[in-house]
Amino acid sequence: MEKPDEGTKEPNKREIETGSNFIQNIVNEDLSKNICGVRIHTRFPPEPNGYLHIGHAKSICLNFGLALHNEGLCNLRFDDTNPSKEEVEFVDAIKEDVEWLGFSWDDRLFYASDYFGRLYEYAVKLIKAGKAFVCELSAQEIRDTRGTLTEPGQESPYRQRGVEENLRLFQEMKEGRYEDGSKVLRAKIDMASPNINLRDPVLYRILHAAHHRTGNDWCIYPMYDYAHPLSDAFEGVTHSICTMEFEDHRPLYDWVLAALPKEEYPRAVTFLPKQIEFARLNLTHTVMSKRKLRELVEEKAVTGWDDPRMPTISGLRRRGYTPEAIRDFCERIGVAKRNSMVDIALLEHCIRENLNKTAPRIMAVLKPLKIVIVNYPENLVEWLETENNPENPDMGRRKIPFSREIYIEQEDFMENPPKKFFRLRPGGEVRLKSAYIIKCEQVLKNEKGEITELQCTYDPDSKSGGPASGRKVKGTSHWVAAAHALKAEVKLYEHLFLAEDPDAELDNADVKDLINKDSLQTITSARIEPGVTEMKGRHCQFLRQGYFYLESRADSAEGLIFNRIVSLKDSWSKAQKSVSK
Ligand code: ATP
Ligand code: MG
Repeated sequence: MEKPDEGTKEPNKREIETGSNFIQNIVNEDLSKNICGVRIHTRFPPEPNGYLHIGHAKSICLNFGLALHNEGLCNLRFDDTNPSKEEVEFVDAIKEDVEWLGFSWDDRLFYASDYFGRLYEYAVKLIKAGKAFVCELSAQEIRDTRGTLTEPGQESPYRQRGVEENLRLFQEMKEGRYEDGSKVLRAKIDMASPNINLRDPVLYRILHAAHHRTGNDWCIYPMYDYAHPLSDAFEGVTHSICTMEFEDHRPLYDWVLAALPKEEYPRAVTFLPKQIEFARLNLTHTVMSKRKLRELVEEKAVTGWDDPRMPTISGLRRRGYTPEAIRDFCERIGVAKRNSMVDIALLEHCIRENLNKTAPRIMAVLKPLKIVIVNYPENLVEWLETENNPENPDMGRRKIPFSREIYIEQEDFMENPPKKFFRLRPGGEVRLKSAYIIKCEQVLKNEKGEITELQCTYDPDSKSGGPASGRKVKGTSHWVAAAHALKAEVKLYEHLFLAEDPDAELDNADVKDLINKDSLQTITSARIEPGVTEMKGRHCQFLRQGYFYLESRADSAEGLIFNRIVSLKDSWSKAQKSVSK
């Protein structure tokens, strides 16, 4: 078996040249005014508390894509400020996924935890500047005194503590003298601000938990809203791109950066990073939050984060999606401010488009029905020629064996067919793809009345190049030669959720109970033409059945497992055509 064709070529500049969106416009303007220096710098900042999903792919393509397109840089930074939910397993999986998508952070792999020391020092400076204080209200009390959209909050009784006392208490928090939740460091901003995020937000909390990188070095951890802008500044990020839910946090992002003179940054920056928000990706028939995906994994409603039905990058990869198709999808959905729901049919359309020209065609019979061609010589095997891909003649031709016993698809025969059934029926004819026309002479059944075999005759003149090759019959069926075919297990997938917007139903149901019970159908009886072992990559099209991915195979020809990525029915194209009519 050849090396799997994953981790395919990196996206080149050309490929993303078409990328124009409102963020690119901002970048253009900043570059032309030289606001951000000569080159832009972005980052992708995942929290390592789960596997990446297709929504993250949108953010990855955007951040790395902007850097590529504008000859800038993009960092990978783990936002690992919450040790209780984070694990090394997730860090490794995230790196693998970003690379597989075709992007490189070169030597710029960072962790927010790298900055714990600097973030602490900066907090000390904030205290000295009178801009932060140690507060002893409980989390509940802080919530209760925060006010509402219409009413201002109340100032903490600890707000007026002196600098010296604050410094001492903060130091003691760090030394581990206090229990979780007993104290926090808060910014001193404005309890009457119309923006609730500015009402003395918490900057640091006490958490006696081991961190996957810093171990037990720390028992106080910075909050996201504090660590994030500073991490951006430390790395020289120019455009800090995030999803819309952070829009209301932007004033706090800016406050943190402006709270001390710029010279205070370890790295002298001539500009401050700017936060820009875009709409997150929502996909039909899918849930996208890590918390819910995690629930599915933990409750064993799926086989793991990389279950081929999951919207995770690793699930899509195992299903057979290619990086090109995912990048194409992210390009097509575009970047905007308005939240919307994208039809999963578009994602499926992208993989079909990608594989149409590149995937070899293979004959595979998923549910076999045996046919004996009674007038065909007993021991003859003919090697007939067929094209590898009618959409791409460059892919050449191959030989397929034909013999007296073959299989066709059970559903390609009907004993009492309705009017428009053009496949095989008693006394009827059908063309076997790239082979002969056969006629059904007799139907054999077992004692239960189930069909076990069809006895057919063939027309020796009807093969390609033969005197009757042009003879027309209504239907063509795919088939495999019984003695040569390889056994395989084939997995057919449906959407993980039947509901178009499962999130909308979650108020009344558990996420695992919403799962489509028929989302996985395993077929163990499939028979595949032997040529499948010579195919170059792992992707192929089973004629009339869809695009498939060879997920695994043992050393022998047995043990083949194929995932169906998508069927051939392109509901996206169809919908587009009817719109443009
Ligand atoms: P989730 O809500 O799924 O748990 P998250 O936002 O907590 O995701 P992070 O690890 O913090 O996950 O995300 C890393 C980056 O990916 C962030 O910049 C975030 O805005 C972006 N991102 C997350 N989900 C989506 C999405 N559905 N569409 C676009 N970008 C996303
Ligand atoms: Mg997050």
